[in-house]
Amino acid sequence: MLDRFNRKLNYLRISVTDRCNLRCTYCMPEEGIQLFRHNEILSFDEIAGFTEVAVSNGVTKVRLTGGEPLVRKGVILLVSMLSEINGIEDLSMTTNGTLLKQYAKQLRDAGLHRVNISLDTIDPEKFRIVTRTGDINDVFEGINAAKSAGLLPVKINCVIKDSKEEEEARAVAVFCKDNDLEIRYIRQMDLIRGHFSVVDGGTGGDCSRCNRLRLTSNGKLKPCLFNNIEFDIRKLGFEKAIHQAAESKPECGSRNETGSFYNIGG
Ligand code: SAM
Ligand code: SF4
Repeated sequence: MLDRFNRKLNYLRISVTDRCNLRCTYCMPEEGIQLFRHNEILSFDEIAGFTEVAVSNGVTKVRLTGGEPLVRKGVILLVSMLSEINGIEDLSMTTNGTLLKQYAKQLRDAGLHRVNISLDTIDPEKFRIVTRTGDINDVFEGINAAKSAGLLPVKINCVIKDSKEEEEARAVAVFCKDNDLEIRYIRQMDLIRGHFSVVDGGTGGDCSRCNRLRLTSNGKLKPCLFNNIEFDIRKLGFEKAIHQAAESKPECGSRNETGSFYNIGG
């Protein structure tokens, strides 16, 4: 499926929940968030049905994200439903890693190919400050569990303020080198102000090469992270929503005043 600027849209990112067990300072406001109601959240049948239609329109890469995807009840079943769809060449998940110790093997057995795990520091105290609640040992155990389960390559998403030469980022890079992990540096973004840049080591942030569509957990299909445009897949129907999203994908991102990282999924 091509958009108006001849970009091939083959990558679908699905946010399966807006809930999370951490509270990262750059992602969630301190005062907490207004969560979607349970009846607004897409069912697994809706997510799998939509993904099937997306694949029939040329999507080959699917990533589950959130909120924290592993806090969505039954997410293993969703993975197995998606892994049965013919045509998905790359089925991955972005997770904070804290629950991987519990789920990595089940995820692999259900057909997940690989994971990206978010880690901005290897210092336990700094990790607790960034996440407001987290225990870094859960993430270290999660990384090991992902490697043992064969969710490879395990990639680390490291959010930086300005440069990968920052002290925290350098320490994460050494940790990755020592532990056979690939690192991607993501510059801290601001949706409302429209601050975004290219992901070092990844493919995001370069509008001229953007191949993504994003589905929120309440069923809104977004052609661009940095834009308010969205299409309701329940109201429009799956096929129409996909075509409208492809046709209206902006040439370049600008600002997003209505969404947030925790409900779009990055
Ligand atoms: N909870 C999972 C996690 O943290 O990996 C998945 C959802 S999270 C919203 C997806 C990615 O977005 C994470 O790698 C996170 O670091 C990143 N992220 C969140 N807020 C961000 C921001 N303001 N700027 C850049 N990246 C951000
Ligand atoms: Fe949760 Fe991920 Fe946002 Fe952190 S970045 S608060 S782990 S959704």
